[in-house]
Amino acid sequence: MDYFYSKTQDNDLWLGFKPQYGWVIYDRKLPSNKSVHGEVYWIKCSDWTFFKDKGSNWNYPEYSFVVSYLKDIETNQQKENEEKALSILDEYINKKRNEMDLKYIETIHNNYLEKKGFSPRSVLKAKSGRRESGCWECKNTVDNKYDYECSTCRWIICSSCGACKQFGCIERKN
Ligand SMILES: [Zn+2]
Ligand SMILES: [Zn+2]
Repeated sequence: MDYFYSKTQDNDLWLGFKPQYGWVIYDRKLPSNKSVHGEVYWIKCSDWTFFKDKGSNWNYPEYSFVVSYLKDIETNQQKENEEKALSILDEYINKKRNEMDLKYIETIHNNYLEKKGFSPRSVLKAKSGRRESGCWECKNTVDNKYDYECSTCRWIICSSCGACKQFGCIERKN
């Protein structure tokens, strides 16, 4: 089972089991997950969606690392679960990690909007006009070549905190 250690470390990931959700992944490469202070984003592997939790909740047995989890379960169920865990890990590394890029931005953006009292918005990729700036909320750099824009106010969405326009996301007047 040593490959679980090397595979997760080499890919900046943590794979484990959460009783409520099953297999979950913590991706250290997600901009919101650089620090475990405050809220961080987890991936629920059963339906490949994000959920947020306080970084301080990242403790056994609420979250048990794949190797600890496999050691905890009945011996006759270990092999099947080990294979399942490995296939989930490979699927995330080879496929889902890229595919979930858009879903990640939608998730953190809508979480930001909800906190500010706005309804969910969609996100889009700028078709022209390169713009680079800094996030007014968390000072992260934003660049519409890589980052998405809010469909309503057309500000570049911060990939770290999900913020769009300062002082409120309102319809842009064309
Ligand atoms: Zn930000
Ligand atoms: Zn907006």
